[in-house]
Parts: sequence; C-alpha cells; structure tokens
Amino acid sequence: LEDRLLSVSEAIGKILAEFTTVGIEQVMLENACGLVLARDFVSDVELPRFADSSMDGFAVIADDVHLANDNEPIELQVIADVPAGSFYDGNVEHGQAVRVMTGGVLPNGADAVVPVEFTNYDYRQPGLPAPATVRISKPVSKGENIRNRGQDIYKGQLIFPVGSMLRPQEIGMLATLGHAVVEVYKKPIVGLLSTGDEIVSPGEALPLGKIYDSNGYTLGALVNQAGGEAVRLGTAPDRIDAIKNCLEQAVEMGVDLIVSSAGVSVGAFDFVRSVIEQQGQITFWRVNMRPGKPLAFGNYRGIPIVGLPGNPVSAFVGFQVFVRPIIAKLRGLSDWRMPVQKVVLDESITSDGRESYLRSIVFQKRGKLYARLTGHQGSGNLYSLVQANALLIVPSEVKSLPIGAEIDAWIFSSA
Ligand code: AMP
Ligand code: MG
Repeated sequence: LEDRLLSVSEAIGKILAEFTTVGIEQVMLENACGLVLARDFVSDVELPRFADSSMDGFAVIADDVHLANDNEPIELQVIADVPAGSFYDGNVEHGQAVRVMTGGVLPNGADAVVPVEFTNYDYRQPGLPAPATVRISKPVSKGENIRNRGQDIYKGQLIFPVGSMLRPQEIGMLATLGHAVVEVYKKPIVGLLSTGDEIVSPGEALPLGKIYDSNGYTLGALVNQAGGEAVRLGTAPDRIDAIKNCLEQAVEMGVDLIVSSAGVSVGAFDFVRSVIEQQGQITFWRVNMRPGKPLAFGNYRGIPIVGLPGNPVSAFVGFQVFVRPIIAKLRGLSDWRMPVQKVVLDESITSDGRESYLRSIVFQKRGKLYARLTGHQGSGNLYSLVQANALLIVPSEVKSLPIGAEIDAWIFSSA
C-alpha cells in the first residue's frame, strides 16, 4: 500500500507499466476499421502497378503533336482502343494514337495522353466506338495526363508502422494492396461493475432514496468510444457476496480489465475494496487531482481492476485520465497521451493546487479557441458535463489563472 501523494502522470505511468496488448488476430478488412495494426506494413508492390492514363483521351507520342492547334489540327491514325481494365500489347509508332479511358494501361511507345476535349472526337456521346482517325488540336508535353508506375508507393516502402489505427483511408489502402484480411490487435474486453445499495437500473421502479445507475452507462459508452468492448457485470448492492458474484462473472467471461464505480472510499459500506483484498491485491493511490478520490487499482484473481469513485463526474474524469490510456495500450496504440490543445481563458479560474479537470465550453472567436466553465463544478453534477465540450486541465501548484491565460484543454471527440 503506497501512501505517498502521486502526481497524475506518475500514477498513469505506474498503472500502464502493468499492461500490454491482449493478443493478435486476423480480421476481415471490412471489420477492421478502428482496430490497430499488429505489425509493420510494407508494400510488396509499387503503386500504381502500371503506367496508366489519368484522363479519357488519346495516347500519343508528344513530339507528333507539338505543332497542333485549332486551325491546323494534327491527324493521327487510331490503332487500338483501351478501356479501363484492358491493355494494348502492340506499339504506338509515329503518326499513331490509341484511345484510352481513365485507368487504361498506357500503351508502349506512347508518352502522353491528349484529353478527348482537345480532339475532334465527339466525347459527349457515350458508347461510340473508337474512330479510325482523330484530329488533335492542342499539344501535350511528355508525361502529361499519365500516372507513372510506382509514383505513389515504391516496392518495399513502409506504409503503416505497427500501432497505426486503421481509419477508412487505411482500409482502402490495404484493399488497394490486395489484402482481404489484416493482422490486428484484439479489442480489449472491459467488464463494468456498478455498486451501491442505492443503485437501480434505468427502466425499473425507483423507490425514494434510490438513484438510477448512470455510471454503468457512461462508462460503457466511454469504453466503446475508447476502442474497447464493454460488457456488463451487473449492479451489486453493498454486500460482499453480491460484489463477489459480479466479479466472478468477469473471471468466467475472461475480460481483460474490470472497471468498477463507487464503494472504494472509506465509508462503512465500501466493500469493493475488501472483496478485492480477499481475492487478489489492491493498491490505493492518493493522486494529486480533482475531481478524484484515492484511485483504487489492483487485480481480482489476476484480472486487473480499476476502482473509480462513485460520483458521476469523478467517474467520468477518472476514466478519461486513467482507464482510457489503459485501453489505448491494450489495443496496441502507440500513443496514449491526453489529446490536449492550448486555448485561451475567457474568464478567470481558481483551483486548490491539485491538478484539476474543469468542465468547460471551448468556442471559437476570431479564429482562436477560448474557454469558459460550465455550471457549478460539483462532482455529482452530471449536467455540467452535458453542457461541456472539454475539460480544462489546471496544472498542480496553480491556484488561479487570469482571463487571457493559456491553458490545456481536452476537447471531447464529437463521435
Ligand atoms: P461512493 O463512492 O459509494 O461513496 O458514492 C459516491 C456518490 O456517487 C454517491 O452519491 C453515490 O450515490 C453516487 N453513485 C455511486 N454509484 C453510482 C452510479 N452507478 N451511478 C450514479 N451515481 C452513483
Ligand atoms: Mg456507496
């Protein structure tokens, strides 16, 4: 049990040291968006794979048409037709042209493509066969309207390093390279436990004194947003056997991480702590932050568990600061730092000297980002988070900041 007061970054460092990725699997490309590459990705081909036309037009030898103009067009013999998906295996000689469509293979001998707009060919009518001759009314320079073989990617090029998250454009790139399956890190499964005698699930009747479980839902959504898969371990009243039953489900399901809320402070009914102590280890860290009570961290029968405070705002902030980076590391991301950016304070703020996470609205004014606080900052006031689009991070030791001061803001992602 560590009693020293830890800084937020020290606590994150100690926690992350306990985690690594949860394993590797092959997934179909169409299911891979948002997952993280488990190995470096090197192209085994060059792209484009062949030189092709970037326009609908006529492949020519540029020298043949360098004197072409509207009054004296140059006539060439059309010797072949190359729609996209096909190629001409002959050679283009002087005085000759090949009709090509965008994406069509550039025939040997040709070194430029004249767009159809600069010819006498009636391109407005679809489906016409290639003409026997074509008149060119504008010169092209060598290489014009051609995409060269290998101009985008060379063979052996590192395209994505291990730890890259696959976005839609990476998915498309892998398809371009011909891959139908991809090797990614497994999505971590996170079991969520809400505890407390007062907690009732939404949809059920609510006797006086009880409240609905919001943390289970907020945390479930946060887990999914962070790229994990949330599973419910249920809602346990403040009884050792009930809490234990829920945690046993985590063992059965083989979750990678347990996140509980409430029941870890020093109240008379805070039993989560005793259950973990019986079945594993627990470490309490006093972290120099606000909101945030002591952070409980340990394992239940070998499964890592983070015990967050029960107050809804504290649970949210505790998740963002400590659990989000764990999930990032479990899923193989190479960067799990807080995504902060500088904003300017639009009102003065005070703090108590602990690293503070204040709910705020960040807005644009004349091209700059400014921040104001939302509502009262009590840690039970979930509505102040609903109004917020960011957390402002006041560093430790700082007790006040004036209007106009720069501060780090963690702007929430909108999706
Ligand atoms: P505790 O950590 O058990 O002392 O709880 C602190 C506060 O958070 C109390 O007001 C609880 O009622 C509230 N709380 C605990 N769990 C939840 C939950 N799942 N949803 C909403 N509020 C909760
Ligand atoms: Mg309680």
